[in-house]
Amino acid sequence: MNDCLFCRIVAGEIPSTKVYEDETVFAFRDINPQAPTHILVIPKAHIPGCNGVTAGNSAVVAHIFEVIPQIAAAENLAGGYRVVSNCGPDAGQTVPHLHFHILGGKPLALEMA
Ligand code: 5GP
Ligand code: ZN
Repeated sequence: MNDCLFCRIVAGEIPSTKVYEDETVFAFRDINPQAPTHILVIPKAHIPGCNGVTAGNSAVVAHIFEVIPQIAAAENLAGGYRVVSNCGPDAGQTVPHLHFHILGGKPLALEMA
C-alpha cells in the first residue's frame, strides 16, 4: 500500500481539484493557496523530490516544464508566475513526492529566503 499523499491524490483515493492530467503528469489546486492561483504539478510516478531526479526519470521533469506554460495560459497568468520546488526540510518540503508550485494571479514579492 502506498501511503504517499500525492500518490494517493493521483490514484483518486484522496480528492483534489484537478487542473491538468496526461499519461505522466497530474496538476491540482493547492489546498492552502499562497497566491490567487496556486497549483501543484507532479509526476504521476513517485519521485521523492529534486534529489530523486536521475537520468532515468528526468524526462518527466522536462515534460512538466512543457506542461507548466499550458497551465499558466489556461489560468490566465499572462502577467507572469513563479515556479517553486522545495527540496528537503530547510526548504520547507512537507510532502516527499516531487512537486512544482505554480504561483500567480498577483504581483509576487521577491523574497527568496
Ligand atoms: P511543500 O511544502 O512540500 O513544498 O508543498 C506541499 C504543498 O502541498 C503545500 O503547499 C500544501 O498546502 C499542499 N497540500 C498538502 N496536503 C494537501 C492535500 O491534501 N491536497 C492538496 N490539494 N494540497 C495539499
Ligand atoms: Zn508519491
